[in-house]
Order: sequence, then structure tokens, then C-alpha cells
Amino acid sequence: MNILVLNCGSSSIKYQLLEMSTDPKLVAKGIVEKIGLPTSAFTHVPTGKDKVSMEIYIPNHTVGINLILKALINQEHGVISSLEEINAVGHRVAHGGEFFSESTLINSEVLKKIRLCSELAPLHNPANIKGIETIAEVLPKVPQAAVFDTSFHQSLPEKAYIYGIPYEYYENLSVRRYGFHGTSHKYVAEKACKILGWNINEKKIITCHLGNGSSIAAIDGGKSVDTSMGFTPVAGLVMGTRCGDLDAGALLYISEKENLSVQQANDFINKKSGIAGISGVTSDFRELHAAIGKGNERAKLALDVFCYNVKKYIGAYAAALNGVDLIILTGGIGENDFYVREQSCSGLEYLGVKFDAELNKTIRGVDRVISQTDSKTTVMTVTTNEELVIATDTMQLVLKK
Ligand code: AMP
Repeated sequence: MNILVLNCGSSSIKYQLLEMSTDPKLVAKGIVEKIGLPTSAFTHVPTGKDKVSMEIYIPNHTVGINLILKALINQEHGVISSLEEINAVGHRVAHGGEFFSESTLINSEVLKKIRLCSELAPLHNPANIKGIETIAEVLPKVPQAAVFDTSFHQSLPEKAYIYGIPYEYYENLSVRRYGFHGTSHKYVAEKACKILGWNINEKKIITCHLGNGSSIAAIDGGKSVDTSMGFTPVAGLVMGTRCGDLDAGALLYISEKENLSVQQANDFINKKSGIAGISGVTSDFRELHAAIGKGNERAKLALDVFCYNVKKYIGAYAAALNGVDLIILTGGIGENDFYVREQSCSGLEYLGVKFDAELNKTIRGVDRVISQTDSKTTVMTVTTNEELVIATDTMQLVLKK
């Protein structure tokens, strides 16, 4: 079964075509970037063939998706002979609000609810909807599924998702903690338990998804019970360009002093803060290490802040879970940055962590235990693959139909 996975962002579309079997295979992947800008571009990477890159004006998502479909059946760099070989399309959908606690096949009722959630994710859900509508137009017979960033965290207890503001803002405006990166947290927790031969229902797990966007989740018996992102993805850990937890009063103070509009304040906390804001040089961890190597002290401070935050959340979630059996590090940083892993997991001996610092230094982009064999709490790096989760969920929903 061939599943096309679409991740439509506000100005980009990432895609993967996967051939699903017991051993799923990536058939092609690529990205449409800078939609609506004169510099928009398209990159198509067919497995086993040369990569194709072109700068071409892509005014909207519909044109972008059509470009992707054409590339998939192109005589030279295509990977399938006709669009009929696409059996289903799985969409990453940013926000499912309180409507969706699991992935679902898309019908008009589901689409209506995704549309209702657009208020909660005004940049992302409308782009996801455009993707769904375009596929419905071009491939009307192909089933589509929605896999939500939020759904895994719908199991949070009320005490973990209610904010300390008047309750009617939850009732009337749906303001609460939702959490994001759900597909990744669920996937790495399940994958790690499979590798370790553990029953997830009996385990307490803390998953740290550390990438451009970062979040941590506390998972008890396979269910998310707390997570660091909130009503929006800006909460929790300090991230590449997002501020993470910030005293709301500080934002009001800065907004007043700098005379910021709501849009400007939004840009301030989402695009100008975090590692980029502290270091003043970059949001990218590889570049951050390079700057530290050249003696940049603010870059070092940014890294220290990041690692300290990760450690602090691990401690908080160990308290929430009343102990922890497994700590998982994933995402571009968690999978590759041994320094971050060591700093975030050092000083956790009180939690039963015996970290293997030497082994950790040699581990990059693989699934591996990085705690010592007699560590009461296991620490692991696990590679995430959100596209595979989307394709798997889509396939299962289509087969159940
Ligand atoms: P993601 O959003 O999961 O793709 O992660 C992106 C982040 O991972 C960026 O900050 C990258 O610099 C970081 N990253 C990727 N590879 C490495 C690496 N080998 N060492 C350190 N950081 C890395």
C-alpha cells in the first residue's frame, strides 16, 4: 500500500511517499518552500534517483500539491506510473482541540471540526485544510486521514491542563494546555518499550523531543499525563526561536516598553527569542557549538539555559509520575547532540540515573541505551519518525474501513 504523507505548514509542504509493508520503504520525499514568495522553491528526492531542485513561483498550497503529484509520476524522476498507485493520503494536522484523541479518517464532519480548531492554530490548521481540500479535488476517490499533533495529550488530567486563569476562559474560549509533538512522544515511547521488551502499560516514561521545537512529556502506562507545550507550542522548554516558559508579566512589560502590537509580541516570543535570542547568533545547535568553540560566551549561556531547562522538566515530571523507569531523548538535538544529553542527564543520580558518559559520546542517530547496565532508570536515544506514524495510522484506518 502506497501512502502519501503531507505536512502542510503556513508556507511550506513537506511530503513523503511510503510503501507500507512489514518493512516500510521511503519511495520519495521532498519539500515545497516559501509558498507565495518570489523565491519559492521545490525539491524532490526520489529514492534511488537524482534529487531534483527547482526555483519556481508557487503562489499557493494547491499549486504546490499539484507540483508534488506531477513529480511523483514524472517520466524521469517519478516513482510511480500513475496517481492511482497512491492508495491513501495521511495529513499531519496541527490542532485537533478536544475533538480528537486519536487519528481519524477524514469526512465532511471531521473537516468541519478541524476547521473549528483553526482559531486555536491559525497558521497551521488552515494550511492543513487546504492540503485536504486539494487532495479531495485531485484524487477524489483516495481516502484521507488526519493525524493530530495534539491528540496523544488528550489523556492529560484536568489538573495538568487547566491554567490559573478564570475558568470561563476554558469554557468559552477553550484556553487550556493542549500539548504538541504527540505523534513523536507516542512513537518513541512505544518503540523504546518494544526494543527493551517492556510492557508500556507498566512503565513510567519521560520523553524529551529536542529539536527546533522542543517539548517533554510524562507518560504513565502509555498515556500522556503532562507535557511542556501548552495552549500554543511556545510554552515549556527554551527552543530555537521560541521563548518557552516566560512570566506573562514580563511579556506585558516588554510590550508596553517597546510599544508592541499583538502580532509583534507574537513574533517576539515565537521568532526572536529562545536560543537565537539569548545567543544573538543562531537557533541551530550545530552553529551554536561552533560559536562556543570560538569563545562566544552568550552561545555557551544559551546552551546552559537549554540543558538546565530539560533537566528541570525531567525532575518535575519524575515528581508528577512518582518515579521514572525510562528517559528518552529524541529529535535532531536529542538524537545527535551528546553534550546536551550529558548535561541534561547529569546530576540525576537521585532519580536512579547512572549515565554512561563515555558511551554517550559515541552515539548519534541510533536507538541505544546510554545509561549504565545497573542504572535503575534507563536512559535511551531513540530516533523519531513522525511521517512513519502518520503513514501507519493512515494505513490502519484505511484497512479497518
Ligand atoms: P529537528 O527540528 O528535530 O530537525 O532538529 C533540528 C535541530 O537539531 C537543530 O538545532 C540542529 O542543529 C540540531 N542537530 C541536528 N543534527 C545535529 C548534530 N549532529 N549535532 C548537534 N545538533 C544537531
